[in-house]
This record gives sequence, structure tokens and C-alpha cells, in this order.
Amino acid sequence: MSEPPTAQLFRDDAFLKTCTSTVVGINERGGIILDRSIFYASSGGQPGDTGTMQLASGEMITIGATVYQDGKTTIVHVPAAADSALPAPGEQVTLNLDWDKRHLYMRIHSCLHLMCALVDFPVTGGQIGAGTGRLDFAIEDAGAIDKQDLTTRLNELISANHAITDHWITDDEMAANPDMIRTMSVKPPMGQGRVRIVDIGEGGGVDSQPCGGTHVAATGEIGAVEVPKIEKKGRQNRRVRLKLL
Ligand SMILES: [Zn+2]
Repeated sequence: MSEPPTAQLFRDDAFLKTCTSTVVGINERGGIILDRSIFYASSGGQPGDTGTMQLASGEMITIGATVYQDGKTTIVHVPAAADSALPAPGEQVTLNLDWDKRHLYMRIHSCLHLMCALVDFPVTGGQIGAGTGRLDFAIEDAGAIDKQDLTTRLNELISANHAITDHWITDDEMAANPDMIRTMSVKPPMGQGRVRIVDIGEGGGVDSQPCGGTHVAATGEIGAVEVPKIEKKGRQNRRVRLKLL
């Protein structure tokens, strides 16, 4: 079943905690599709958002997961309970985001951008959790990075409170600048004619890379962090763990 794309409000404003939307349809698994959403759908190692959806009747549904269907265009809100009441197509509903959890994801996600800026090796994977996260790098020389040193340098970038902003480029500009893509396992969200570039620091001086995720407004908002562990994962891979303090 092909559904129309969902307007992804979190991409223009990651700080929206509530919105009203119109129900477009219910998929065959009972997932709810809206015309627009503030719920980030699981992708790029970041879990989908959770929260509640208030129906026109006043009834409240708990949304236990948010995922994509049809590539990365249509967002599906999955009720936590299989026997949830469901809204009807055309109905107006109100979404309320589980903000505390999302903000933890935003802080970790933004700090992983800083880690990219400090560890100049190809990224092979990553994961974002509520207060912890990791990036995997293709590094042969185990001595190339040190957890103490990385912790110090991350906290320096955080303390400097660099602004995190974004701008858009065309798919053609993206294709002409493949070096901007840091994560080999996560393709930038192309195919819609334009790609969002996330910049940290003036003119992206600290970091600049394509990303469709949710970020804090400035690095100071990340708060103090630690790299508790760097693990060897295979001959060429190093897993760098991150946690908020
Ligand atoms: Zn990002």
C-alpha cells in the first residue's frame, strides 16, 4: 500500500512537543498515518519517538513506536496496545511527544556529530539511546584514538557552545560532494530534490554533514559527556561509546 508523504515537522523544528494533525489512513497492521507529524521515525540508528495521540473523542492512545513505510516518506504511528481505539480517516488528532526521552536522543545525536568531527576515520555504524550512544569507525591502528583525550576534546567543543544550524542543498550538489557523507552505512535522505546539511559552528566550521535527524540548538545543551570505552570490533573496527554525565 502506497501512502502520501508525511510532512516531517521535526525536521524544521526539533523542539515541537505537540501538534494537531489530520488522519490520512490506517495501515493493514493498525498503524496510524497522519498528514504531518512531530514524531521522528526510527532511522539512522535513532529510535522512533513515543508519546500519546488524543483522538477527537478525547480518548488517548499511547504510541509505542514510530516507523517509516514506503522508504523514508510516510510515517506510521504504532499504538502500544493491539486493541487500541483507532481514529477515522479525516479525523483531527493531537500528538504529544515523550519529550524527555527525545531530548536525550537529541543530546546524544548532536554529540555524535562532534565525535565525527574529532575522529577523522570513516563511520561504519552507530546507535543512539536515551543517554548513551556509540559510533563505529574503520580504524586499523588501535592507538589512533584515546578515550581520555576524546572525552576532553568533546567537552571542550560542548563548553564552547557552538550553534547548531542547518541549510539545504540540491541532490545534485550532494552528489558532487560525496566527501561530506561521514556515515557509510546511513545514506543521506536524498530523492526529494534537496538534502539537509547540519552545521555546527560558524559556517559549519566544527562539523558539516548531511543529516535528517533531530539536534539540540547549540552544543552547550548537550551537557558534560564521557567516552567510557573504546572497543575493538573486528580487525578494522573500533566502537567508541558515549554517555551523558
Ligand atoms: Zn544529525
